[in-house]
Amino acid sequence: MTIEKQITQTVCGGKIKEPEKYPTAEYHGKRIYFCNNACLLHRKINF
Ligand SMILES: [Zn+2]
Repeated sequence: MTIEKQITQTVCGGKIKEPEKYPTAEYHGKRIYFCNNACLLHRKINF
């Protein structure tokens, strides 16, 4: 039996294996993930 890490997609299309290590935000009731803080700031401006 293997434990598979869930792969989560970030808003910019990247894939992350450990979402708890990345910045997140809630947008329209959905949790979204960012690959880093620069990405977070960039996307917040675009929202
Ligand atoms: Zn990004």
